[in-house]
Amino acid sequence: MDLKLENPNPRFPNFSNAVRVEYAPGRGRYTVAERDIEVGELIAADEAIVGAIDQEYSRSNCTNCLKHAKCPLPCDKCSGVVFCSLQCRDKAMSTFHKYECLYSDLVSKANIGAWRLGYRAMTTQPWTYFLQKKDFFLSRNEKAGMASDYIYSSKDLNNFHSLVTHDGSADKQAPELMMQAHVVVFLLRLLKKTGYITSQNKGGELSEEEIIAARILHHFMRAAFFNTHEMTQILKEDEDWNSNKMIRIGRVTNPSLALINHSCDPNYRRVSNGMKTFGFAIKPIRKGEEITDIYCDPFSVSDYQSRHKRLAKYNFTCACSACQQKWPTLEQINSQLDGLHPKAYKLPQNKINAQAKRIVRAEEKFTSYCRDAARVAKTLEEREQITKLATSTLNEHVKLLQRPHQLLIYWENQLHNILIHRYAAKVRRCTYNGTTLLMPTE
Ligand SMILES: [Zn+2]
Ligand SMILES: [Zn+2]
Ligand SMILES: [Zn+2]
Repeated sequence: MDLKLENPNPRFPNFSNAVRVEYAPGRGRYTVAERDIEVGELIAADEAIVGAIDQEYSRSNCTNCLKHAKCPLPCDKCSGVVFCSLQCRDKAMSTFHKYECLYSDLVSKANIGAWRLGYRAMTTQPWTYFLQKKDFFLSRNEKAGMASDYIYSSKDLNNFHSLVTHDGSADKQAPELMMQAHVVVFLLRLLKKTGYITSQNKGGELSEEEIIAARILHHFMRAAFFNTHEMTQILKEDEDWNSNKMIRIGRVTNPSLALINHSCDPNYRRVSNGMKTFGFAIKPIRKGEEITDIYCDPFSVSDYQSRHKRLAKYNFTCACSACQQKWPTLEQINSQLDGLHPKAYKLPQNKINAQAKRIVRAEEKFTSYCRDAARVAKTLEEREQITKLATSTLNEHVKLLQRPHQLLIYWENQLHNILIHRYAAKVRRCTYNGTTLLMPTE
């Protein structure tokens, strides 16, 4: 199902007007709430500028739009590349796939991860485009979008180019730099082999044009590496909204969503649908508060050391509340509503019981609606009602409990699951004459 922002931010149209982008030296760009944002509110809707399907799904999902293909159309020349439609095939063949065709397996086997997206970003435009704007692409502008007359679109390659790459600040080791150099040379050869660059080098030395291409490519590889999130699809085991198994199928770069920083306890969650990503507030976000995404496992399932080890590759040290206050993982945090330390509540002692009763009533309404009326939640009305009831149950918990608390995490996850059920790309198993296939559900 497609979703559109009702009131897009005029300068950052992939965000709603509830989101403001700010810049601070040393911190870069980041997003804050322009006004109070409610739980469940859609605050971002973005289509990736580049995406790549993981090799495992390259025979079932379209190389161009990443959606599971009902009737896959193969590339004429590559055995491991399919498209969902003639439109997707034509689009890919006239742009990026022209420069990967016959080499898809080679690139996949090179195992270069997100760097592949850097190559793809480059081949979205002809080489003459970069030559004409060479000075721009060889310089850096990590403040793009901050000028008051600039409209920052995720589809604009200039904005992909402006993404943070931690140039000069990363503590780079020789093996890492050597690896990057090797991959640049490998991809540069591919650009030449596929006719993207036709310049001739002399006596084995790289030509000036090749050096320019290598520098842009290297920067794009880093832009993709630091600004990529995974793309998922949902495997539905049955019709129940709560039976979603999330499967990673590829990775994408969204120059707008990449402006949202990390927290180990984020207030925003993503829902993937092909190249599209929708972002919802999963907590109430007060005016002026930073909007945060997550780049590793949340604090509830991963301890401080494991998270920081994982985040080190993104070149920053997280200072979210979970990290600063060293919150324990899920099994060690509060789970009950009553009898907690007064500091675990937002309300004074004399109001706790009444709020706990409101929580129980909200929960009962939610579970009875799911059980009796719409467990399957097929119709739009049923899905809307389930979202509404889960949101109000979460809100009642938010009024009473301080973080961290198991019930807050549980209801945030429930709401995320419901949003996935409504908006994510989904597949289910279908059996014909003894053969089981995955088919898209809508
Ligand atoms: Zn497609
Ligand atoms: Zn091909
Ligand atoms: Zn953290």
